[in-house]
Amino acid sequence: MQLIKGSEVAAKVLAECQQDIAALAALGHKPGLAVVLVGDDPASRAYVRSKDKKCRDLGLHSVKLELPAETTQEELLAHIAALNADPAVHGILVQSPPPKHIDESAVVLAIDPRKDVDGFHPVNVAKLALEDSSGFVPCTPAGCQRLLLDAGVETSGAKVVVLGRSMIVGKPMALLLMAKGKGGDATVTVAHSRTKNLAEVTREADIIIAAIGRPNFVRAEHVKEGVVIIDVGINRVEDPGSEKGYKIVGDVAFDEVAPKCRAITPVPGGVGPMTIAMLMANTIKACKQLVGA
Ligand code: NDP
Repeated sequence: MQLIKGSEVAAKVLAECQQDIAALAALGHKPGLAVVLVGDDPASRAYVRSKDKKCRDLGLHSVKLELPAETTQEELLAHIAALNADPAVHGILVQSPPPKHIDESAVVLAIDPRKDVDGFHPVNVAKLALEDSSGFVPCTPAGCQRLLLDAGVETSGAKVVVLGRSMIVGKPMALLLMAKGKGGDATVTVAHSRTKNLAEVTREADIIIAAIGRPNFVRAEHVKEGVVIIDVGINRVEDPGSEKGYKIVGDVAFDEVAPKCRAITPVPGGVGPMTIAMLMANTIKACKQLVGA
């Protein structure tokens, strides 16, 4: 069984980013990412901090905008308009979820699609469906595809089951895997909460991408021998024995499923580190496209 170590692949992606950053610096450009947080949700705050830190570590220009929970929709849209117009900012991300009074889809629509490094704007969703490589692919599924490529997993002609149909993971993942070319050309089935006889569906799969947000949901009976699994899930479960009182587990019951796998990602240390690395890569791509480098 091959353990697909996301931290190692993420380090490779970041090393590639560094080369691009040096090439852009030689031309007088510095990629910039703005991360906007509304409110004080502790998990969101931690995500924003780690994105800001990663930018600074790489030598990117980083703008961290932490706005109070009472920020109005209008005020937030004004901040986004200012970032759209700021030539030092090439990527803009509004941390999800915003407070309830904010209309998230209006926020996504307000971001200049050329700076939409999350890949959530309808223009970028369409570009993904159209296989137009100038668009931005959402970071998590892009990271999963890179993990498969790096692990030497052949997707062409493979039967892939994507578990979950969210706009952040499942749906773009399916589009990437069914696209023509390297890392694609798969026969994709998307399963979700209404799927009947799920175990029968997943047992057919050569590759499973698990993105449902249910701890240890995928069990040994869901998979066939020799399957490759990318576990996107990040779930907190109680762990009274640990210092924090909880631990993070994936959507896959790793201990019982891993022995049947040809390859599998761990949680943590699998998809998680890839997401932030792909965000850096998307920011650099946005910079290159905006400055014409
Ligand atoms: P969502 O809650 O938006 O979507 C979950 C999907 O799973 C839905 O399509 C839902 O079906 C489906 N689902 C839920 N329960 C079942 C079930 N019992 N059987 C079959 N399908 C089911 O989650 P996300 O896509 O945002 O995230 C999924 C997981 O990935 C979470 O654990 C999240 O924390 C993690 N994640 C990890 C990231 C990383 O960087 N590693 C980044 C983003 C997410 P339906 O549509 O019918 O409701």
